[in-house]
Amino acid sequence: MTITAHGDALALAGAIDETAALPGLLARAAGGRLALDLAGITFINSLGVRDWIRMQAAAQQAGIAVELQRVSEPIVHQLNMIVATRGAARVTSFFAPYACDRCGREESLLIDAIAHREGLIRLDPPAMQCPECAAQMAFNDFPERYFSFLSG
Ligand SMILES: [Zn+2]
Repeated sequence: MTITAHGDALALAGAIDETAALPGLLARAAGGRLALDLAGITFINSLGVRDWIRMQAAAQQAGIAVELQRVSEPIVHQLNMIVATRGAARVTSFFAPYACDRCGREESLLIDAIAHREGLIRLDPPAMQCPECAAQMAFNDFPERYFSFLSG
């Protein structure tokens, strides 16, 4: 996993595993806030999940607000499967699978979780435009499963 400063966020990329040393990221919080850009995370293994949960717990204990931006699909799956991975973090945007009925293109598209919050909680994901043919793309997973991390 690599870490690069990206605006006021730390951009993480690659795989989260036992070498990622996630709890150490808390030392880089500024003003009680740690913003992580997760668009580049491609994989997380079970030891990575364990460290992730430790990081969330330590953040809560230290009163550090964790903000997750551009959360990649592998992390969304973890947030849905293991409630403890959510901690008290606020997700501001995340990627979701979409497919185009007209040309068949499949794409992971970014959803603004703040702007679309009400629709997402109603399991009504926003419509997206196909970058290939400009037709409307449809969300391509089970909404009650994929968006469950946003409720409760
Ligand atoms: Zn298309």
